[in-house]
Amino acid sequence: MTKKAQVMVITPHPDDAEYGVAGTAARWTRQGKDVIYIVCTNGDKGTNDVSMKPDELVRIREQEQLAAAKLLGVREVIFLHYPDQALEDTPEFRKEIVRLIRIYKPETVVTPDPYRRYVWHRDHRITGQITLDAVFPYARDFLAYPDLLEQGLQPHKVREILFWGSEDPNCRSNITDTFDIKIAALRCHRSQVGDKLSPEREEWLRERHKKMAEGEDYELAEAFHRVEIQW
Ligand SMILES: [Zn+2]
Repeated sequence: MTKKAQVMVITPHPDDAEYGVAGTAARWTRQGKDVIYIVCTNGDKGTNDVSMKPDELVRIREQEQLAAAKLLGVREVIFLHYPDQALEDTPEFRKEIVRLIRIYKPETVVTPDPYRRYVWHRDHRITGQITLDAVFPYARDFLAYPDLLEQGLQPHKVREILFWGSEDPNCRSNITDTFDIKIAALRCHRSQVGDKLSPEREEWLRERHKKMAEGEDYELAEAFHRVEIQW
C-alpha cells in the first residue's frame, strides 16, 4: 500500500503553505515531481468577520486551499480537520503524520520551523515539532507502531526536511519564475487576503522574497532551514 509522492508539505492552516513554499512547490511540480499537501487544522478561527459561521469558514477555506493547490500542480490535498488553534503534541496526531509518511513515502517533507522564537502561532510550532518527530525516529523505526506494520505500512526514511519561517535559513530556493503563480495561489485564499491582494501587499511579498535571495545570482527566493536526515 503506497501512493508515493516525492514531496509532502505539512501545513497547519489553509494558506500557510502558499506563504511558505508555494513558489518552490510550483517549480517542483513543473519538474514533474509529485507534491502533496497535508492540512492539519480546519482553519475555523481565521476570520475578522463577526457574521461568519465557523462551519461556513471551514467549507470556504477548503475550497480556497484546493483551488490554490490546483494552480500549483499539487497532486492531492488531505485535510486532517483538527480544530484551529487547538493542535496539541499528542501521540494520536504524531501517529497520524507517521501513517501518512509511511503511505506516501516522501523524500522531502516541508513544514513550519518549530523553533522560531516569540510570536509564532502555536499551531505552527506544534505542526513543525510533530512533523520533525514523526520523520525521526517514528516513521523510520519498525517497532514504533506494530499496528501500522500489521497494516502493511513499512517504515520509511525521509531524506530531508525543509522548515519555512526559520530564523536560521541555510537553504534557498529560486522562485523567480514561479513568484507570479505563488501570488496567484495566495489570491485563491480570498477569506484571508480579501477580494484583491493589494498592490502594496504584493510589493511587500516581492521585497521579502528578494531579501531571501540576497547574495544569489537570481532575484527571488524562498528560504528554509534544511535538515538532512542521516540516520
Ligand atoms: Zn497558519
